[in-house]
Amino acid sequence: MSRTSFHIAFIGLGNMGGPMALNLLKAGHTLSVFDLSAAALKTLGDAGARVAASAQAAVADADVVVSMLPASRHVEGLYLGAEGIIKRLRPGALIIECSTIAAQSAIAVARAATEAGLAMLDAPVSGGTGGAIAGTLTFMVGGPAEVLERARPVLLGMGKNIFHAGAHGAGQTAKICNNMLLGILMAGTAEALALGMANGLDPRVLSDIMGKSSGRNWALEVYNPVPGVMDNVPSSRGYSGGFGVDLMLKDLGLAAEAAMGAKAPIPLGELARNLYALHSGAGAGALDFSSIFELLSHRPGA
Ligand code: NAD
Repeated sequence: MSRTSFHIAFIGLGNMGGPMALNLLKAGHTLSVFDLSAAALKTLGDAGARVAASAQAAVADADVVVSMLPASRHVEGLYLGAEGIIKRLRPGALIIECSTIAAQSAIAVARAATEAGLAMLDAPVSGGTGGAIAGTLTFMVGGPAEVLERARPVLLGMGKNIFHAGAHGAGQTAKICNNMLLGILMAGTAEALALGMANGLDPRVLSDIMGKSSGRNWALEVYNPVPGVMDNVPSSRGYSGGFGVDLMLKDLGLAAEAAMGAKAPIPLGELARNLYALHSGAGAGALDFSSIFELLSHRPGA
């Protein structure tokens, strides 16, 4: 019979990783956790996880490692090099890397893991902090199909939809395509709502109309960027606690790199990247990405 509960080391307990780790505890796994933030560690410790003093200590006796860090450099720093945790994991352990990073970084970690006798998947997610809290994330998985089957009981503790995108790195490529589209859709949705408001429309009424018309999309219906239109979304809590502008900017940069490598045209993705770069440069980098509405609704002299 295949196992359904594991000892999991969870590294990176931020807006996404924190609730994902809590859901793994609720699913009956035991957890050792590590993050640079003492507050994040306390939340998981209070919920029953073992708090480790370092990533190396967290993975010492782990069957599975799940990581949810900001960007490629954090992931490469965690796994690779002399201090990398690949050297600390016991043979046969499984790595599930959920951060959004360059496909090349995921492939580099997978190569080092394979050489050390470990199994690795890139498994970036979609669904936002709401999906992380509710345990309804979508996973886009790169790596061997049999490794995905081993990981499935762990992934089902955090999400509902699991897609096998292809070989190592393919999960990241799928994620970057999705997030480029999300960045474009959020900017376009904010622009349309700001245009309606500048011409006297109530954003709730306009959102209802577009939500039942051909402009409907996730940014409009699930993550509306105008404060007060929806409850429990970042725009209604000062653009806090969601998906940061600088994280979206990172993802659009990864899309640009992937496009250059393949000589693929991404004119709208590049335009979106420039909009989020302007917004970040104006001091909004730590706000949720739906705050792009503020950039597009600013009307000097109005
Ligand atoms: P976050 O900034 O809220 O959390 C990152 C966490 O990693 C922080 O708690 C930080 O202290 C910790 N950290 C950084 N370096 C570390 C290290 N060396 N060791 C241990 N901990 C370290 O970010 P997030 O919103 O949770 O996003 C995490 C990843 O998930 C990113 O790659 C992001 O692009 C992706 N993502 C985010 C969302 C979202 O809606 N927020 C959705 C899908 C995917």
